[in-house]
Amino acid sequence: MVNLHIGFDDTDSPRGGCTTYIAALLVEKLVKLGVGFIDYPNLIRLNPNVPWKTRGNGALCLRIECNRDLVRTIFEMVASVVEENSDMGFVDTDPGIVFFQGKKIPLQLRQFAKRTIQNIVRIDEALDLMKSFNCEALGFLTSYGLVGALAAVGETLEGDHTYEVITYRKPESWGTKRKLDLKSVEEMDQKMKGRTYNNVDEETGRILITPRGPDPIFYGIRGETGKDVLFAQGMIRSSESVERYVLYRTNQGTDAHLRRMGSISDIRPFNSVIVNGVVSSMPKLVPKRHRIFAIKDSTGCIDCAAYEPTGTLRRVARQLTIGDEIEVCGGVRSSGNNPLTINLEKIRLRKLSSRLVMRNPRCQKCDKRMKSAGKGKGFKCSSCGFRSLDIQKKAIRENRDLKKGLFVTSPRSQRHLTKPLCRYGKEKSGKPASMLDHWHTP
Ligand SMILES: [Zn+2]
Repeated sequence: MVNLHIGFDDTDSPRGGCTTYIAALLVEKLVKLGVGFIDYPNLIRLNPNVPWKTRGNGALCLRIECNRDLVRTIFEMVASVVEENSDMGFVDTDPGIVFFQGKKIPLQLRQFAKRTIQNIVRIDEALDLMKSFNCEALGFLTSYGLVGALAAVGETLEGDHTYEVITYRKPESWGTKRKLDLKSVEEMDQKMKGRTYNNVDEETGRILITPRGPDPIFYGIRGETGKDVLFAQGMIRSSESVERYVLYRTNQGTDAHLRRMGSISDIRPFNSVIVNGVVSSMPKLVPKRHRIFAIKDSTGCIDCAAYEPTGTLRRVARQLTIGDEIEVCGGVRSSGNNPLTINLEKIRLRKLSSRLVMRNPRCQKCDKRMKSAGKGKGFKCSSCGFRSLDIQKKAIRENRDLKKGLFVTSPRSQRHLTKPLCRYGKEKSGKPASMLDHWHTP
């Protein structure tokens, strides 16, 4: 018997297809061949800031135990299923498949996976590693998919992880409106609070478990354990039949993409970073309604942007002031000659600066706020008519309407990898000791 790790990536495109659907088809075929799974299928989200990514930038790894004679058959089966179900007509879809045999995933592959999740890696790096570890591989078109496929093999999810059960639609329903009972989603969300996450966006009431594209996914429920998400799935009602479902173990909702930077000058384009700084410019509203402000440290400064859909963050960003000490998290973008910008996913307010503002005095007679009577003419009260030349503006400590703490983008605009507030304190590690019986159908 051998342990076989099958990674694949980049089979989908914005117009359809879905890498997890290929995983679901393969699960059924592999089970029919009689192989044993040594983990739930791993759904690995990669660096969300890669400029050429498709929608979710998710790669898959199936980890199985099988008879050595079966390896060849399995390789051919995987290749043909990936080929038949990939959208290779699309210019940026370049599928890749990687097979690794062995009980333990080597350290270099695990480190490679971390870099692919947090950074940009070159395809040569993947090719060199595959050669030194005797991986069998198949790359279509430009073969960029090999990078993600190898990263999926290397990310063994021994640190923090979550689960998602994904249900799939029958092919005849693809592209049509999803017939889901929204009320049952709300009920499930209420009942499973703390054990599932991002089912519903609280600010807008929008249901978040269904994608909106033409892909085969019906809905997906994310949560803390396999048992939780399968239980939640049982509560969902729909008038559309589900073709199949698979339970995935994943790095979603874990902040695996974020890397702490020692200083602002270390930040590079397309990284996902956590960095401390002091607010150095007042938040500005820029076209398309983004809020932009800058932070600095002793090494440099960088722009931070909160986008329109991110309600909570934008509200906080609007109220920042020069001198506030904050920590920001997000992906780093650069465009042309513009300076780097951090697209904010989170802000932690560490220390709010207390600003003194000069305010007009209050009227001695009626206590209303007075107005300037003109340069050198003192103040007048527009309510009772009282005037005075003797009184002056007063310095008042500005009342900040902000509290210290962590603020996260609203669920509807969170990336797959963003750890939502409700997951703080629920981090876990290690693989599950055993697998649930009904983790897939068929
Ligand atoms: Zn007055």
